[in-house]
Amino acid sequence: MSFELGSGAQAETADDRRVKDVIVLGSGPAGFSAALYAARADRAPLVLTGQELGGQAGLTHTIENYPGFPGGVGGAELGQLFQKQAERFGARVELDSATAIDLSQWPFHVKTYSAEYATRTLIIATGANPRKLNVPGEQELTGRGVSYCATCDGWFFKGKEVVVVGGGDSALEEGLFLTRYASHVTIVHRREELRAGRILRQRAERNEKISFRLNTVVQAIRGETAVTSVVLRHVASGAIKEKPMQGVFIFIGHDPNTEFLRGQVDLDAKGYVVADARMRTSVPGVFVAGEAADSVFRQVATSVGMGVAAAMTAETWLAEREAELAEAGA
Ligand code: NAP
Repeated sequence: MSFELGSGAQAETADDRRVKDVIVLGSGPAGFSAALYAARADRAPLVLTGQELGGQAGLTHTIENYPGFPGGVGGAELGQLFQKQAERFGARVELDSATAIDLSQWPFHVKTYSAEYATRTLIIATGANPRKLNVPGEQELTGRGVSYCATCDGWFFKGKEVVVVGGGDSALEEGLFLTRYASHVTIVHRREELRAGRILRQRAERNEKISFRLNTVVQAIRGETAVTSVVLRHVASGAIKEKPMQGVFIFIGHDPNTEFLRGQVDLDAKGYVVADARMRTSVPGVFVAGEAADSVFRQVATSVGMGVAAAMTAETWLAEREAELAEAGA
């Protein structure tokens, strides 16, 4: 793959035509933390936000476990603070997404919807996307009662009955949030034991608006123009029951947003970018941070740490490369 820099780019400026030191892909906690450190190293990083400015954290109503905010902080508000701090030191933020990258040549090339760039280092902080149930009705009724974001859509379910699918922290946290609006929240989990931690479990179990259907899966979601019912199947007995329902919120984990890297950077069996402790990928000059490389912790705080580490390693790498080139008289 090759790109001709500067061709056909609407938003192209003289600055775009210069080879960048650092491009960050993604605008969640990992991306903006990497940008902050790269900016403070005077590398004027370019942040390509991707489709979700602020990443998944930006869609979270309240974040209660990010240190420094004892009373909690809104996810969108925290994202804006991250952005402001990175911009203050010279990061440039573009509401654009990479559509293709070419890591076979150095500087690397990054093509977006509106421009093409060359960069000496690339920090991948593209995060993860919510996993789908893949049951009949899910795709057709997404946005019509099926949702993957309680903060975004909860308000539409005032006084209505909803199902939350999943047994992890996300399902319980979002289920609790939905009780502000919904008349009742049924948490449907495929096993007997919930995966979520004790605090959230206790909160959910004590909430009068929440009930649990354990050992149960959603087999289908029904409705013409909006969700009207879910078909539930008891895993052990196989018993099937159709339950009238207006909303279905699905929180069953995430898949990393890394498909566009396949064949260029090493990915593990689940698609996460393979990285060492310094956030180096299989391609020298390409680094990774946040949920694109983390299937384990998935916290704002850990993503921030990974972003910082990736930017610091990128800075060392750039400085070494510059010294080598200077020595070679290039
Ligand atoms: P998760 O912990 O991976 O839980 C996913 C849940 O969905 C599990 O209960 C799983 O069932 C279920 N599931 C997966 N695939 C399914 C399918 N096809 N059909 C039905 N159910 C399915 O994901 P998460 O809840 O998004 O949490 C991810 C990470 O973020 C965790 O480390 C979590 O601690 C963290 N997190 C923390 C907080 C917090 O600290 N407040 C909030 C949100 C998330 P099984 O249990 O049977 O596998």
